Amino acid sequence: MTTGQVWVIVTDDLIVGNALAVARGLGGPVTALVVGSRQTADRLAPVVSQVRHLAIDQDTPAESCAAGLADLAAAEAPAAVVGNAGATSRALLGAVAARLGGPVLHHVTSAALKDGQISLVRTVGGGLAEVAEAVDVGQAVLAVRGGSDLGEAGATAPVAELAVTSSSAVRLTSAQSINHQAVELGSAKVVVGVGRGMKAQADVAMVRDLAERLGAELACSRPLAEGAEWFGHDRYIGVSGQTIAPDLYLAVGLSGQVQHLSGAHGAKLIIAINNDPDAPVMTNCDLAMVADLYQAVPALTAALGGASGVSESGGK
Ligand SMILES: Cc1cc2nc3c(=O)[nH]c(=O)nc-3n(C[C@H](O)[C@H](O)[C@H](O)COP(=O)(O)OP(=O)(O)OC[C@H]3O[C@@H](n4cnc5c(N)ncnc54)[C@H](O)[C@@H]3O)c2cc1C
Repeated sequence: MTTGQVWVIVTDDLIVGNALAVARGLGGPVTALVVGSRQTADRLAPVVSQVRHLAIDQDTPAESCAAGLADLAAAEAPAAVVGNAGATSRALLGAVAARLGGPVLHHVTSAALKDGQISLVRTVGGGLAEVAEAVDVGQAVLAVRGGSDLGEAGATAPVAELAVTSSSAVRLTSAQSINHQAVELGSAKVVVGVGRGMKAQADVAMVRDLAERLGAELACSRPLAEGAEWFGHDRYIGVSGQTIAPDLYLAVGLSGQVQHLSGAHGAKLIIAINNDPDAPVMTNCDLAMVADLYQAVPALTAALGGASGVSESGGK
């Protein structure tokens, strides 16, 4: 027996626009269960029917609520539980799904109630295909990527404080910055992404100059964040990284494999700079510039009124 309520689990990562849209598609009242700050709970109050805030101690990671949240789901039996695809959210969804006896379904793009079941669409194979599936009401635990637009504000919903048991097994003992500036690529209007066409880390400065002229966030392909560690992990775009939906995505010296471009499908305009006319990105963009990035990037920066700084490595 389910309540018809649709839950959206929210951590302090507020990139839940698409999760909210999927939840709304199910037709029932949407309740946000916020595991994090009261500020996050208040932020959601105008866009959902109800907010329930699970306050946690500062030294307790949100994942510590996983078992308590799962018990709550088992007791209250919401029709569906939705969350974003961030690491913390996935841990919480996993615990809920395990308790309800079902799987977490990832990369969901839409869901609707049909013939007494929840029918949903999700992408598979790194964005290469779309599948339609049906899942029982009460068993639907859905992970949805991205979305910074939380939807139209309406009446402000009440925020109820909720106590759930949190595990005492993990306590934060210290935290220190790892020297990467945190970024919210999901809401950026202009993004400049770089890839392995960049020969040296010092050359990032050259692309950063261009990004600054464009008022853009700087992003990258996965190898530059995982492996090379030139960028923080929150700066790579793709199926296992960030999803972006900017007005302009300027893809510089990256091949545009499907695992990368599936994170940039939402871009209104993609311009690619690559010295290989046969690179996959060249047929998956709106405007392709066949050029050596070490010439094109400084030239564009200069054209936009910046100093035409050349790379430190000279492209070697
Ligand atoms: C399960 C799985 C998940 C993955 N998830 C992701 C993901 O989320 N995000 C992601 O990005 N990747 C992901 N990958 C990796 C992905 O498949 C590619 O290997 C990766 O995106 C390639 O990065 P790149 O384009 O920077 O490098 P490359 O493929 O090496 O491309 C470099 C490009 O630079 C061009 N170039 C070289 N020199 C110049 C120059 N001087 N001027 C202009 N252009 C130049 C080359 O022509 C080439 O096209 C995943 C892979 C797997 C298997």
